[in-house]
Amino acid sequence: MKRSLVAVALFLACVLPNLASGQKLIALTFDDGPRPYVLYGVRNPGEPVKAGLIDTLEKNGVKATFFLMGWRLTPKTWGERRETNIGITCIDAARDLVKRGHELENHTYGHERLNLVQKKRGSEGALADIEKGSSAIEAITGRKAIYIRPPQWVLPGDLRAQIEKRGYRVMTIATENPLAVRDVNSLDYLCAGSQPKQCPKPSLAQNVLRQIEAREKQGVTTHILTFHELSSTVPAIQMLIPELKARGYRFVRLDEYMNQVQSIPDWASGRDSYRLRAAGERFARCLFVLSLRFGKNEKW
Ligand SMILES: [Zn+2]
Repeated sequence: MKRSLVAVALFLACVLPNLASGQKLIALTFDDGPRPYVLYGVRNPGEPVKAGLIDTLEKNGVKATFFLMGWRLTPKTWGERRETNIGITCIDAARDLVKRGHELENHTYGHERLNLVQKKRGSEGALADIEKGSSAIEAITGRKAIYIRPPQWVLPGDLRAQIEKRGYRVMTIATENPLAVRDVNSLDYLCAGSQPKQCPKPSLAQNVLRQIEAREKQGVTTHILTFHELSSTVPAIQMLIPELKARGYRFVRLDEYMNQVQSIPDWASGRDSYRLRAAGERFARCLFVLSLRFGKNEKW
């Protein structure tokens, strides 16, 4: 074997991260909707047209997962008073999302922090709020919601166990979920409004890419990205999808994401065993190439 070929083989085996063995998956998720003015965009006379989220996903061939507020899924609801009414009800928007192949999951009915609900109405009250949200979604999709993302990720520990006992799976940014199934907080809510001061620098999209790169350094190449149905989020999504595709990522709904990730061996063993596993795999690859090399009694 030529020396240069050997060098390339060794580089690939020993230095490159485990790109071939690691699936590269993204689950895009959006909280707080349905907000028709965000999903379909706004065309106010005299103002620039704001692109809709549905169109953006459609153009990129991406299916996403929407964590909805149950109260929006009541008849004749167009959203909150301050939201632009584009003449499409939240229920119709939710039905359209399903028709287009997106997934609907549960962000509770009232969208109140569950520790506050628990204080006011006890654990039963908090669980009732979740079940009510689930029923509202089931009325549209015909199936029970599986995933719960508590508003602002606030969830008293005893409630989590009770929610899981009912067959739900809890989305969180806390370390109790292994890294691969822990939400990535995009911080997009800091970029909403006319003069956002705390929006991540240099941009929302760049900040998300940095978070992904930091997770990759820990050997994790699957990410659940948490965004909100906000007009200010749509341009970031328009930038992120092609960029992440160019980096080898595939976009899937949360249900498929969970199936795929959990089929990766040892995905949840220990909190963050990925880096160790990745290093082990690299070492084994490296040894294999070296054994081929020395097995033939060749010299460098
Ligand atoms: Zn929310």
